[in-house]
Amino acid sequence: MLLLIAAITVTTSFEAGSLGRVEYVSPLHLRCAVKGQADQDGRNRQANWYYFRLDNLPKQDVRIELTDLAGEYNYRPGSYSVTRNTRPVYSYDDRTWKHFTDENVEWDEKQGRLTVRFTPERPRVWIAHVPPYTTAHLAKLLGDIGRHPQVRQESAGRTVQGRELPLVTITDPAAPDSDKRVVWLMARQHAWETGTSWVIDGAVRYLVSDAPEAAKLRRAVVWKIFPMADPDGVVNGQVRFNAHGYDVNRNWDTADARVVPEIAAMKKAMFAWLDSGRRIDLFLALHNQEAGDYIEGPAGAVAQRLFDALGKTASFQAAGGPRVSFGKGAVDKGRMTVNQALFHERKIQAFLMELGVERNAKLARPRTTDDNLQFGPDLLNALAAAAP
Ligand SMILES: [Zn+2]
Repeated sequence: MLLLIAAITVTTSFEAGSLGRVEYVSPLHLRCAVKGQADQDGRNRQANWYYFRLDNLPKQDVRIELTDLAGEYNYRPGSYSVTRNTRPVYSYDDRTWKHFTDENVEWDEKQGRLTVRFTPERPRVWIAHVPPYTTAHLAKLLGDIGRHPQVRQESAGRTVQGRELPLVTITDPAAPDSDKRVVWLMARQHAWETGTSWVIDGAVRYLVSDAPEAAKLRRAVVWKIFPMADPDGVVNGQVRFNAHGYDVNRNWDTADARVVPEIAAMKKAMFAWLDSGRRIDLFLALHNQEAGDYIEGPAGAVAQRLFDALGKTASFQAAGGPRVSFGKGAVDKGRMTVNQALFHERKIQAFLMELGVERNAKLARPRTTDDNLQFGPDLLNALAAAAP
């Protein structure tokens, strides 16, 4: 008998595409290793970025196993960033993404593998850990806001592979800066954490909009935004380390320009700002993690105000109160996060925020791209309310 079905093909040859070895268990059953990424010492492997396209799909039950998920976090082995609660996303046009449902997904605890079963509606589908946000998305955003008179764009420096590190300033020049708060934001220190880019995208688009509340935010605050701290990692479909394997949210104490020029450049931009006599009233680095949300920073009234303001938003899952940056004592050399370093060296009210990608307790489902976009304006208002 002639085999009339063309084999399902797997492609990752596009920006941020990533997958490890693919094994055909049967024509409709693919075993796909997640590539993962380890650091400069071959430690702290994290395997939760995959973004691939399947072609020649029949309208039959297809099974995709995601394997090789075991990783390590802060030198503790046995950590998984794809878990029983992870729901991959799929798209038929590489633009609009939906989560696979509980019915589609099965977790094998013994093997540490996640299996997705579904009947494709079309012959081509994209699958990813979370909805991708690439440098192409960022270029579109920066292009769209480029002519706005209250937006200034510059480069803070270059990455290992020579890409620019964009720094966006948004404020109303008609109001004197001396009357304003100064808030700095940073996203995508870790390439896989695309949800934070959607938040920044929503925040920036709102901030330049005609809404009277947005004009108020531009008059009251100088907004300084690093929208993508590791563009090399984003382009190359990496997980959480730069092109030399260095974590862009550790190493803020050492800030060695030879191995993490991204950190050196961003730190230099912030310290130059401070050294020219200006303030940073509040700093926030945005991150994604698996389950739950939190903020971490210096203990005190600002932390509590920010936490309380975030708790009023539609999707921030406030629980347990703000966490303290140096709760566990001294930090090992080369392990300091951006918020820790800014507080340690310059006493800045610097925070880190984690937003979970698994089921959101408030929404009773995982956050969608729309949820993240809508969280953007909410975040700006929370920051403006919390700034000392
Ligand atoms: Zn992160």
